[in-house]
Amino acid sequence: MDINAKNLLEKLNNNHALSIDEYDYLLKHMDIDLMNVASEFARIKQRQHYGNKIFVRGLIEFTNFCRNNCYYCGIRRDNSDCERYRLSKAQILECANVGYDLGFRTVVLQGGEDFAYTDEDICEIIRAIKSSNPDMVITLSIGERSRASYEAYFNAGARRYLLRHETANPELYAKLHPQEMSWQNRMDCLQTLREIGYQVGAGFMVESPGQTTYDLAMDLKFIQDFKPDMCGIGPYISHKETPFAKETSGGADTTLFCLSLIRMIYPQILLPATTALGTVDEHGREKGILAGANVLMPNLSPTSVRSKYTLYDNKICTGEEAAECVTCLRNRVTAIGYEIVEDPGNRSGFNTN
Ligand code: SF4
Repeated sequence: MDINAKNLLEKLNNNHALSIDEYDYLLKHMDIDLMNVASEFARIKQRQHYGNKIFVRGLIEFTNFCRNNCYYCGIRRDNSDCERYRLSKAQILECANVGYDLGFRTVVLQGGEDFAYTDEDICEIIRAIKSSNPDMVITLSIGERSRASYEAYFNAGARRYLLRHETANPELYAKLHPQEMSWQNRMDCLQTLREIGYQVGAGFMVESPGQTTYDLAMDLKFIQDFKPDMCGIGPYISHKETPFAKETSGGADTTLFCLSLIRMIYPQILLPATTALGTVDEHGREKGILAGANVLMPNLSPTSVRSKYTLYDNKICTGEEAAECVTCLRNRVTAIGYEIVEDPGNRSGFNTN
């Protein structure tokens, strides 16, 4: 293990802050020993703030239509092989009710940027879920919208919003997205969401095509500065029907190391062990928790549509019923000494009422 890198980890653990160059140094010197030290530090912070509790969010992937054409994404606009679907309001409500009965107190309504659902449609869905289950916290993950739209959803009862920034480097963003998409607009959206009062989730891909350790270091510095309430990260995984079909997918290790660093940067953060991590490594989600993650996001979408929401190839958990997923995850989490709890799972210190 590189001794300077170990010293930097200790500095990060104590001060929660490093420079971009220091993060870059850590990433360049990552090895199994350094990963182990980082995960030990991260687990101490995780336990200080959340004990052995793991929060779950029920994911409802309600539309795979998207107006965008991100080069890495399987449901991008130009993928004519993608079998498109939209769930009705009644179907979405049914998924949320099933989730409630299974113990979920948060649902994430996730979709492509699909404007076939008007703002009023989205607000109606939010109100219907809240009216059936008043203590269900609603998270939205439906991309870039106007301030007025974000405000309308908030007023209807949504309290969290996930919008991955994908990369903190605008130059890399321009290589991963067509020119019509704007890194600045995405960053502005995150700021707007925070100003409105949402708990905000950012996030980035790890080992995306062309990404350097310096790019990843910029992401870590962004997390340090912006302090999102939640941060979703996962390895880049290629999809066969995208312009990046031949690009190499990332592995689990760099994501695991980044999870530990993020837990040290912002100990209170909500940090999912993502499905992408479980896709590149059979035990990726357990390893993610042991690296500092404290959130899992099992799928509540009807099994008939699961396999159609494929942002990347070989996505796991597309066949099981929601109840099976919950049982499977509960067993996996218990086996490593943690416990899935029936709780809205707010970032410590934040109230969603
Ligand atoms: S990554 Fe999101 S915004 Fe981009 S094409 Fe896929 S669903 Fe649409």
